[in-house]
Amino acid sequence: MLKSRAVIHVCLLSLAVCLLFFLSPGHSVSVSPRFPVPSPGVISGDNFEILSPKFVGGAGGGGKAGNVVRVILLYRHRPGRVELSTINSSFVCTTPDGQTSLLRQGERWIVELADGGWRILRPGTGSFGPKGAGDYARFTAQGPWGKIIIKCLEGQSGEPAVAVSRGDLLLSSGARGLLLMDEIGLEAYLSGVLPEEISARFPEEALRVQCIVSRTFALSERGRHGKEGADFCDNSHCQVYGAGDRYPSLDGALQATRGQVLTYKGALARVFYHSSCGGHTLSAGALWRTDLDLPYLKGVSDQERGKPFCREASNSRWTRVISSDELSSLMGWNEEIQDIQVVKGDRRDRRSVVVLAGNRGSRRIPLYEFWTRIVDALGWGSLGSPWFQVTRQGRRFCFSGRGLGHGVGLCQWGARGMAKAGYGAEKILEHYFPETRVGRVK
Ligand SMILES: [Zn+2]
Ligand SMILES: [Zn+2]
Repeated sequence: MLKSRAVIHVCLLSLAVCLLFFLSPGHSVSVSPRFPVPSPGVISGDNFEILSPKFVGGAGGGGKAGNVVRVILLYRHRPGRVELSTINSSFVCTTPDGQTSLLRQGERWIVELADGGWRILRPGTGSFGPKGAGDYARFTAQGPWGKIIIKCLEGQSGEPAVAVSRGDLLLSSGARGLLLMDEIGLEAYLSGVLPEEISARFPEEALRVQCIVSRTFALSERGRHGKEGADFCDNSHCQVYGAGDRYPSLDGALQATRGQVLTYKGALARVFYHSSCGGHTLSAGALWRTDLDLPYLKGVSDQERGKPFCREASNSRWTRVISSDELSSLMGWNEEIQDIQVVKGDRRDRRSVVVLAGNRGSRRIPLYEFWTRIVDALGWGSLGSPWFQVTRQGRRFCFSGRGLGHGVGLCQWGARGMAKAGYGAEKILEHYFPETRVGRVK
């Protein structure tokens, strides 16, 4: 859930108080759909139908056709060694050479990187594995509701982590260590995304909005991880995907919106979302890329009678102080930053940039890159959104801003506010994505 743009003005005078004053429209901070890669959907007619829902990912082209997606599990952790166990069902493991073996309930198998590829260690029966890193094994449940629990024993993140595969588990290795992919139907995938991306306690119409946006994102952005043979990763780079804890409100919203997607001029729309915008969403073209300068991805005012729809979000307004030294190091600059300015995109140069000034010259960094470098280093929410103003206080800079997340597209807390004010899902979508319509995929 989650994410903004700004005009930053650094005064050379120290200011005791950070003023909240925003010169540019907001952006949202969404943890999710971060940076977009185009992949047009094929839809036609009034009763939108995807004509060729081909599987974009698929290691070696072996993916299933239809609305099945492959999601890379434990993506952030870059696992080198994991433990597999099952619940509800045993799983048939088919190795690359066609051999099958049974992962029984109660058993624990270890999978680890080995000799440029990977191998499986089974208790009491030795190990087996493929010849090359590109080959993969498939685990298929013998009964319904089977799941494989994947516990990360060694990974580059160094943090304990557990993932759950609910479809077929595909096992291989790649540049990021072991490659573990859940191959799962679209709606089942969404049921694992929703609980991670929105509160099940949000009003029903806001949940419906999230379902339509998440489904549209999944269909229009699939293949983002094509190089790895997958569609999506399981973290906020794509949409966060979890174990699929069930909530009646989320199940109900998914069911009620089944097949519904957001369309623009007869094709799937490009959609993004963030937690809260602080009163104005941001333009995708100014924040990311000019090819996203689409009529429905421009910033919109998110207010009614002067009050932001997302005003009840905890990060509606925020401040953060960062030392000049730390900023220099985060930006990879060898001199003390004297001044920071945010320059809004204009007709000639659409993208907003941050201009850093030092004694020996100045440097321009795209606003989104400036923001993500800080957030990646200091943690999510450290700088709520790319919608901020900066003031200098001696050798420190004070950022004051609005919203949480990148600020583009749907403001989740705003949708909550609109739903509470009586707006329906279609009206809410029309507000955040002007000129789009809700269509249906079959
Ligand atoms: Zn991703
Ligand atoms: Zn908002």
